[in-house]
Amino acid sequence: MITSKTKLVGLLGHPVHHSQSPLMHNTAFAEKKLDFAYVAFDVLPEHLDDAVSAIRALGLRGVNVTIPHKVAVLPMLDEIDPLAKRIGAVNTIVNEDGRLIGYNTDGLGYVRSLLEETRANLTEQRVTLLGAGGAARAVACTLAERGVREIRIINRSRERAEQLAAHLRPLVKVQVVEQEEYRSAVESATLLINTTSIGMYPHTNEMPVPAEWLHSGLIVSDLIYNPLETKLLAEARRAGAMTHSGVGMFVNQGVLAFELWTGTEAPGELMRHVVIQQLQQGGT
Ligand code: NAP
Repeated sequence: MITSKTKLVGLLGHPVHHSQSPLMHNTAFAEKKLDFAYVAFDVLPEHLDDAVSAIRALGLRGVNVTIPHKVAVLPMLDEIDPLAKRIGAVNTIVNEDGRLIGYNTDGLGYVRSLLEETRANLTEQRVTLLGAGGAARAVACTLAERGVREIRIINRSRERAEQLAAHLRPLVKVQVVEQEEYRSAVESATLLINTTSIGMYPHTNEMPVPAEWLHSGLIVSDLIYNPLETKLLAEARRAGAMTHSGVGMFVNQGVLAFELWTGTEAPGELMRHVVIQQLQQGGT
């Protein structure tokens, strides 16, 4: 029940109507008997400044930040955690008595779920990354810090790929792949990660690389979690590859945010269960 003592957290994004975060966090708060509530705020870019001031004014305990605000919010905060600073984006804010501290739990959430589900040895991985947007940056930066052997980037916009490569170069061996070498960059990888939105609901018949490039020596990881099994993952499974869906990243970024706000261990299994159940029932 919401009372005058309830601590409020939420999501700042646009759009937010499809978000699974309110369901996931409110279920977790109830399970842990914590007097917290989570709501989604649809915030237009021109209102972000006011929305961030409202975290202080209304005494929210914190928020998640999603598309399109993850980078724009940085200068509005009082402190940025070192990993979020290196990634250059924030997805979680904690309000410590009026001081807003920005964190990024996306990259750690990704790595945690990859290790849980595939048991991959990160220092042996030759990574081919499809995409160079915000999620790619969080994932690649965290993988680079965890010592992967190399990261090759395939992206539609060459300029964005070069920007990401420049960002990663101090941390890891990195290369932007020329179009004529896309196939060999996929075939010679050990870990192929799709960070583009190709294959996401409702475009579930699309895939970012041809099925015949996939093989049994690959771990194929897709950041998309709607659908739970993208066409890329279904084809990878058919080719005998190990697969890893984006739902684990989503749940783990939520687990880490929950723990930052509440100081209490999150019920990760339950959070995963409710998200998967909702997605299987056709929630978008
Ligand atoms: P973003 O910053 O907008 O980046 C999108 C990326 O996809 C860019 O590299 C873009 O290429 C590429 N792309 C989009 N449409 C394309 C097309 N038709 N053909 C070729 N490339 C295309 O978005 P983001 O925040 O990184 O999110 C990317 C994906 O990750 C989304 O599907 C999102 O749902 C997923 N994600 C999942 C989680 C999770 O918790 N599992 C968390 C965050 C994001 P250009 O640079 O050429 O535009």
